[in-house]
Amino acid sequence: MIPLSEVDIGPREHAYATSALDDRWISGTGPFIGRFEAELARRVSTAHAVAVANGTLAIELALRALDIGPGDQVIVPALTFAAPAMSVVAVGAEPVLADVTEDSWTLSPADVDKKVGPPTKAIIAVDVLGHPADYDELRRFGVPIIQDAAEAHGSHYKGRPAGSAGDIGAFSFHANKTITTGEGGAVCTSSEPLAARMRTMANHGMKPERPYHHEELGRNFRMTNIIAAIGVGQLERWDELVAARRRIAARYDEGLRGSPYGRQPVAEWADASAWLYVVTTPERDRVVQHLRADGIDARGIWPALSRTPALRRWHVECPVTEHIADRAILLPTSSRLSDTDGDHIVRSLLAAAAE
Ligand SMILES: *Cc1c(COP(=O)(O)O)cnc(C)c1O
Repeated sequence: MIPLSEVDIGPREHAYATSALDDRWISGTGPFIGRFEAELARRVSTAHAVAVANGTLAIELALRALDIGPGDQVIVPALTFAAPAMSVVAVGAEPVLADVTEDSWTLSPADVDKKVGPPTKAIIAVDVLGHPADYDELRRFGVPIIQDAAEAHGSHYKGRPAGSAGDIGAFSFHANKTITTGEGGAVCTSSEPLAARMRTMANHGMKPERPYHHEELGRNFRMTNIIAAIGVGQLERWDELVAARRRIAARYDEGLRGSPYGRQPVAEWADASAWLYVVTTPERDRVVQHLRADGIDARGIWPALSRTPALRRWHVECPVTEHIADRAILLPTSSRLSDTDGDHIVRSLLAAAAE
C-alpha cells in the first residue's frame, strides 16, 4: 500500500536525538528545547515559541492563556480534523461551529458574522490542508484569533508565515505533518505576556526563575529534549521538506489537468503549502475503493464536524463544509513519495474516472 503519509527522518535527526540521549537530557528540560523554540520562532516570524507535547495541547494552552473557560464560546470551522473543537470542550467552553467558504475551504467571515456575540471569546481559524484562512477579515470581529497552523508549515497569508497571522499560532508536529517530531506541538506569539503565561501554564504554573512557586494554575504540557532534538533536525530541513511536498502537489496538478476531478481552490491571499493533496468528486466512495484496490492509501476527508457524533450537542448545519466533506479525497502526499508512485496514483485516478 502506498501510504497516505510517510515519515522523513534523516541522519541529522538521528544524530541530535542520540546526543540528547547520550547527554541524559531526556525530560522537558535541556538544550534542544530552547534551540527548537528559537528556530521555530525565527521560521514563523514571531517573537516567541513554546514547545509542547502535541498540537491538541498547543490549542488548549492557547485557549487557557486567553482565560477561556465555562460560559465562553469559541468559533471553530466545521471543516477540519476535530482537535480544535475538542480543545474548546476540554477547557469547558462551547464550540460554535461555523461554515467555510467555497473559494478557500477556510472559515467563512460571513458565517462568523452571524454567530459572533458577547459570549464569543476567541476564533480558532484552521489553515486547512495548508491553505490559510482570511485573517484580515476575521480580525474585524475584534476577538482574539488562534491560528491552527498544524497543517500549514511553510504557508503564508499575504506574505506572513503561517503561525504569525493570529494572536497565537498553534502547530502540530505529529508524524503525518510536514515537519514532524512523532508527537509534538508548539504555540507561537509575538505577545510577551501571552508567551510568558503559556510558558508558565505549560510547566505547572511555575515561572522559570521560581521553582515550586505556583503563582497560577498549570499542568505539564512539556515537550521532551529528545523530541526537541528530532525537531531541531527537522526545522533545519524546513525548506527541503516544504519544497518536496509542493513538488508532489505540482506533479498531481499536472497529471490531473483536464480530468473531471476538482481540487482545493486557492484564494488570492494565500500561498498555500501542500500538506495533503485533495481531489473532489461526487463519486467519492467509488473512487476511494478503486484507489485502495490499486494499493493506494487514499481516504475520504474528515466528516464535517457538524455531523460528528461526539459534537452533536453543538450541531448546526454547515452546508458548504458538508458538500466538501462528502466529495473530497485525501491522496498520498509526502517528501518520500516517489515519482513512480505518484504517477501510479494519477493513472489510477484517471482510470477510475473513465469507468
Ligand atoms: C493534526 C492536527 C491537530 C492535532 O495535532 P496533534 O499533534 O495530533 O494533537 C490539530 N489541528 C489540526 C488542524 C490538525 O491537522
